[in-house]
Amino acid sequence: MPGPRTSSPATNQPVASSDIPDTGRDGHRPRDRSRGSGSAAAVLRAVLDHGPVARSFIGAATGLSPAAVSRQTADLISLGVLRELPAAACGPRAGRPSVPIDVDTDTHLACGVHIAVPILTFGLVDLRGRTVAREELPHSGDAAELITLIARGLPRFLQRHAGRRRVLGLGVVTGGHVDGRTGTVVEHEPLGWRNLQLGPLLAARTGLPVRVDSHAHALAEAEILFGGPRARSSLVHLFVGNVVDAAIATEGVVHRGLRSAAGGVAHLPVPGARQPCPCGERGCAQASLSDRALLARAVERGILPRPDPMLLQQAVAAGEPAAVELVRRRLGGIAKVVATLLDMLDPELLVLTELGVLFQPALLPDLFEEIAAHSRSCRDPEPVVRPSSFGADVLAVAATAAVLNSVHRSPRTLDAFSRHPVLAAGAAGVAGVAGVAGGAVPGRFPEAALK
Ligand SMILES: [Zn+2]
Repeated sequence: MPGPRTSSPATNQPVASSDIPDTGRDGHRPRDRSRGSGSAAAVLRAVLDHGPVARSFIGAATGLSPAAVSRQTADLISLGVLRELPAAACGPRAGRPSVPIDVDTDTHLACGVHIAVPILTFGLVDLRGRTVAREELPHSGDAAELITLIARGLPRFLQRHAGRRRVLGLGVVTGGHVDGRTGTVVEHEPLGWRNLQLGPLLAARTGLPVRVDSHAHALAEAEILFGGPRARSSLVHLFVGNVVDAAIATEGVVHRGLRSAAGGVAHLPVPGARQPCPCGERGCAQASLSDRALLARAVERGILPRPDPMLLQQAVAAGEPAAVELVRRRLGGIAKVVATLLDMLDPELLVLTELGVLFQPALLPDLFEEIAAHSRSCRDPEPVVRPSSFGADVLAVAATAAVLNSVHRSPRTLDAFSRHPVLAAGAAGVAGVAGVAGGAVPGRFPEAALK
């Protein structure tokens, strides 16, 4: 599988992160391979899952020798990925540590932009996947206006919230069919976008390397990174918002497919549904179950004065009976899609990101009952199906997933990127997609980003 692609701020030519070497282009000698980026990732994973922990616990969890653990933790501490805590802060898993180790959440942040209809979300997320800040802005859906909105809004967002922490890079996610390798939105039906070169256009306006991804794939990446061990075994993620899409992952790897289109369930027929779909069929999942369809129903029935997703969210969160009943009925249709996915893929975990279960968890038993009624293989969905791990922050976390994934899978790229000439020279203050520009002023953007 090719490495994720970004764009060079100097040339706007795509730069695959796999092309950016551990070393070399700027004349540095290769690092000692025996120090092992796989070992670094394993140490970071152990601390992420169980921290704060003692070094002895990390050794037991990873199988590394005490000397190797000591070396890896020292390196990761120097990179600002791990940190030492006072002994009193150590948890019960750690035995009797002298100095517990935890993930460093104070040095780096990942930045992301999630583009939905009609809301844009800026997010800043720490290395534990916790949202530090998020802001939402309405947008018209016009691509040129949206790019200007991001180019102007992002530097100010970072100035308000990043403080002295270094920003690791910019992830951009949106719904529909996205080719992350070229940064192209191949098709986003609700926004009317086709073959929009979002990554290169944003890179040209901001002067930053940009990583664009399908939000379905990014949501699955986020669950794999921060959602617990079961998500790393086999996972299906189903998103129901203005778009309806899914992602499939096994052994911690999201299956993207030949055309980056894997998991497209927008036109899966929902048994019993008859709503006309722009594709010419009736009863497709997106036409029947999307937030847009739900909002139209809410307005038609006098539950909302206008089709405003924020109004619906507030009504559901406040438990207004008519709004809650509306999302409960939709869950009946969603359950049929979930049942089909469970029967096809039999995953260890299926995560559903959807307004109803996000803001009214009391609806979950109804969902489980409906899934059991429609699945041929899963009679007890409760242990398998659960809502997103990130609550209301889910879109912000998804937007940063590609950036955080790079760090967690290969923590030493922080060091490699710091010596990469393009990034070091081009993005004063903001690191590359998977790395930190050396000597940068945290959170500051180049003037070009403000145009
Ligand atoms: Zn359709």
